[in-house]
Amino acid sequence: METETIAAISTPVGEGAISIVRLSGEQAIPVTAELFQGKNLLEVETHTIHYGKIVDPAVGHVVEEVMVTVMRAPKTFTREDVVEINCHGGMVAVNRVLEITLDKGIRIAEPGEFTKRAFLHGRIDLSQAEAVMDIIRSKTDKAMSVAFKQMDGRLSQLIGRLRQELLETVAHVEVNIDYPEYDDVEQMSKTMMQDKTKDVHQELDHLLQVAKQGKILREGLATAIIGRPNVGKSSLMNTLVHENKAIVTEVPGTTRDTIEEYVNVRGVPLRLVDTAGIRETEDIVEKMGVDRSREALQEADLVLLVLNYNEPLTEEDEKLFEAVQGLDYIVMINKTDLDQKLDINDVNERASGKPVITASLIQEEGIDQLESAIARTFFAGDIDTGDMTYVTNVRHIQLLKQAKQALEDAMGSLEMDMPLDIVQIDVTRTWEFLGEIVGDTASESLIDQLFSQFCLGK
Ligand code: GDP
Ligand code: ZN
Repeated sequence: METETIAAISTPVGEGAISIVRLSGEQAIPVTAELFQGKNLLEVETHTIHYGKIVDPAVGHVVEEVMVTVMRAPKTFTREDVVEINCHGGMVAVNRVLEITLDKGIRIAEPGEFTKRAFLHGRIDLSQAEAVMDIIRSKTDKAMSVAFKQMDGRLSQLIGRLRQELLETVAHVEVNIDYPEYDDVEQMSKTMMQDKTKDVHQELDHLLQVAKQGKILREGLATAIIGRPNVGKSSLMNTLVHENKAIVTEVPGTTRDTIEEYVNVRGVPLRLVDTAGIRETEDIVEKMGVDRSREALQEADLVLLVLNYNEPLTEEDEKLFEAVQGLDYIVMINKTDLDQKLDINDVNERASGKPVITASLIQEEGIDQLESAIARTFFAGDIDTGDMTYVTNVRHIQLLKQAKQALEDAMGSLEMDMPLDIVQIDVTRTWEFLGEIVGDTASESLIDQLFSQFCLGK
């Protein structure tokens, strides 16, 4: 089967100084060989890298010094011949290299098309393909390791096992009914169904629980910094951004087309919510009043409540304490370099068990303690990225919920003593929903839709 050769710019995760033009397909090696000044790429061994120059055939000029990696099918990501042209220059040079390959009859890749080919050629399954997308998007090391785990096929394995169990149960029950060895075969089958559905239900439930934490890892812990004017909110924000790796990401297509700021605090991705707003108006409480800010707080996964060591607690502070009730929050008492006028015992009491950190941002004190408290708050649950299979993908979560619902339908029917073939319908539906996660029962349109979400060049 002849497929078109595709190309795209593919910048490696981590965004170094190198940009890559990646080609995949039968023409990848011959076309690159034609443009390449150096070794004859048609004759080099597979999975080798070569220094040389890309020459624009139209004008005969050297466009770019490059390192070219040649990888022959089938041991490649797409299972096609793949060439990666590593360019050191800026975007202009990379774009020029891409253009030249396109002039040679190679087509620009659609978003996610490399990954789509990997999927269609059986190199990876659907959940692994989606993990690739997550890797592209993942914003911190922790989120990255979760995505890698998934790509390893751990989720696929788990889903595969659950489906197998359901299938075997259904098959078993069929056999029991067709070849009854005992008089109470109906009852036996029901008991078996009950046991199995309960087991699988428990596992789905667990997966959905960790999925919630996975979502935070991937999207960042929505963090709001609140406090009265002048307590040091902006200072705290700047400190967090400067002490840690800040990642500025554009989030197009979301309700607010804003630039959001991510900071990586000890492996916990914080998404500083409404950063611009806080910066410009200095204070969401000031701007919107306590009632409105209470609303804004509902979206926060974590609140940093800043107080002034140098002033007694005010009524406004008390209102803020009320506003954060029921939320995860950390109190930071700032300005310990000044005289103490705040009753810390009182603050501790109000905080009722939540961490209270004293700090002087100006003297760079207390920041370590704050960061530890953030990490402790986040990892307080049973989250452990090293050991768990996470579901970090919205589509997966949706399907898991549907599978769980179908399973609950089956369990309900069992309880009501409905006929087993009715129960089986719901068990089969569960099996199908789970199958969609790994792409077994996925329709073509679903696949197209998925891959079009991918970034270009992957
Ligand atoms: P915001 O209004 O809550 O955002 O507060 P800012 O971060 O803008 O800080 C208000 C003022 O307090 C600025 O003049 C800061 O330099 C000062 N400030 C911030 N942190 C400290 C601190 O730890 N000690 C002292 N003495 N001043 C601080
Ligand atoms: Zn400020």
